Amino acid sequence: ATGSDENDVVIIGGGPGGYVAAIKAAQLGLKTTCIEKRGTLGGTCLNVGCIPSKSQRPSHSEKEPEPERMVEMGVPEPEEAEESVQVEVSGADRIAEPEQQMGNHSEQEEADADVVLMIYRVIMQALLHSSHMYHEAKNSFAHHGIKVSSVEVDVPAMLAQKDKAVGNLTKGIEGLFKKNKVNYVKGYGKFLSPSEVSVDTIDGGNTTVKGKHIIVATGSDVKSLPGITIDEERIVSSTGALSLKEVPKRLIVIGAGYIGLEMGSVWGRLGSEVIVVEFAGDIVPSMDGEVRKQFQRSLEKQKMKFMLKTKVVSVDTTGSGVKLTLEPAAGGEQTTLEADVVLVSAGRTPFTTGLQLEKIGVETDKMGRILVNERFASNVPGVYAIGDVIPGPMLAHKAEEDGVACVEYIAGKEGHVDYELVPGVVYTHPEVASVGKTEEQVKTIGVEYRVGKFPLLANSRAKAIDDAEGLVKIIAEKESDKILGVHIMAPNAGELIHEAALALAYGASSEDIARTCHAHPTMSEALKEAAMATFDKPIHI
Ligand code: FAD
Repeated sequence: ATGSDENDVVIIGGGPGGYVAAIKAAQLGLKTTCIEKRGTLGGTCLNVGCIPSKSQRPSHSEKEPEPERMVEMGVPEPEEAEESVQVEVSGADRIAEPEQQMGNHSEQEEADADVVLMIYRVIMQALLHSSHMYHEAKNSFAHHGIKVSSVEVDVPAMLAQKDKAVGNLTKGIEGLFKKNKVNYVKGYGKFLSPSEVSVDTIDGGNTTVKGKHIIVATGSDVKSLPGITIDEERIVSSTGALSLKEVPKRLIVIGAGYIGLEMGSVWGRLGSEVIVVEFAGDIVPSMDGEVRKQFQRSLEKQKMKFMLKTKVVSVDTTGSGVKLTLEPAAGGEQTTLEADVVLVSAGRTPFTTGLQLEKIGVETDKMGRILVNERFASNVPGVYAIGDVIPGPMLAHKAEEDGVACVEYIAGKEGHVDYELVPGVVYTHPEVASVGKTEEQVKTIGVEYRVGKFPLLANSRAKAIDDAEGLVKIIAEKESDKILGVHIMAPNAGELIHEAALALAYGASSEDIARTCHAHPTMSEALKEAAMATFDKPIHI
């Protein structure tokens, strides 16, 4: 069914971009095959990304990418992530080029690492939740009049719960493939021509899959740093940090992006001393400055320590742990720091290893991202790309939007993704979520604006549950009151943000939100009050 029969659409990669594109293509009546090398669907997100993390709460072209894809969307573009950490090792490039990073791995190792990555996001969501529950039981239950005699962490049980969640979710996607009649080929795909993909199947065979349209959805991989060898035991990537066998006494996180802070939170809640080393002067540089300051204070209250404007010179394993040599970003005296585990989380890089893009002449930029037009078409007719492998924020929901729009174009319909309105969420506690522009960005475009803020401390629901750290901040154009950006720090900011996303999508004013009746008592009322504060005055402060 998959071999020589010609498909309308062939998708290489079964992550959130690829599997969603496959289902949508089949729903649109297109004969579709999806090729995935891991043997499990869901990509980085489900296997080693969004979901796992949240269950523990705690090739290259000189051509510039399309401008609309480069829009800042609240999440650092890979270039920014690159800037955030510097490792100087005997004159080597500051950040390894993708092919250098991949050079040492076999295809099977890469496939394994990717499986872990896909699971990572599921694991991460899982681990964030579990570690949060532990932290609450230990520190907050008594406050609510709940006595527990002893609270202990069982790391293997926590990891088992996460693995179960990941397994159920990845199998669920396979079920959706069957339901929608998507052909699924388990194996490593590489281009033979713009309409043929050779697949080394995971059972050791080989097959050729033909398609009128081929979509590359091969995602991204952990960005390694020159001179640092990730062994996934003591020097770990986000993948290894999701599977540590015990709680490290001291964890050093290199890179203060959202993944580093989420992983730091997980292990910090479980008892690790967490130190975050960051080359830049700020954590999560793309976050609204005012919100970022409050966020950093909140993490510091949770005992996370920050060494900003600090360059990592080298990382070496010692007999019992890891030794880091550091120096100020601007240069100066070197210092050393010891840790049990070091997490390298300095960004991600597009993954196109072994695809043979060069054989068919697909253009990539200097970071290895496939260059596409607004219809996701590459320079080679019939070849498209979506998700982490093209410019834009490396987020699962963005990859999914790309996937749907791409196949809609292929089916002769109109697709649409608004890259200005991709929400960004940091799943710490409290969470930080944003959509639209930051105040700094609004200043840059020179529009006159108003800001309305409302603290969670004045919200009845947040007070009732004794979880009232944070704020809602709305930025609206002064003349028209049209909302330009919304930034929320709150326990469930990742859910609250979608009211704002919808408002921005419909071009709403702050008065539109303020005059919409919100149920009481809910944290959503904080959004309504912040909207009141933007165009008039709030009631409860
Ligand atoms: P991927 O998910 O990387 O999937 C690509 C797939 O292609 C992989 O399964 C891979 O095995 C397969 N593949 C690659 N090459 C080949 C080949 N030649 N042949 C066959 N198959 C191939 N995003 C969020 O939105 N929210 C989060 O909370 C979040 N948390 C994250 C936490 C972590 C720790 C990490 C690492 C990432 C997180 N992300 C999160 C980012 C998110 O995982 C990615 O943006 C998303 O998975 C990208 O989807 P994709 O389909 O483009 O690529």
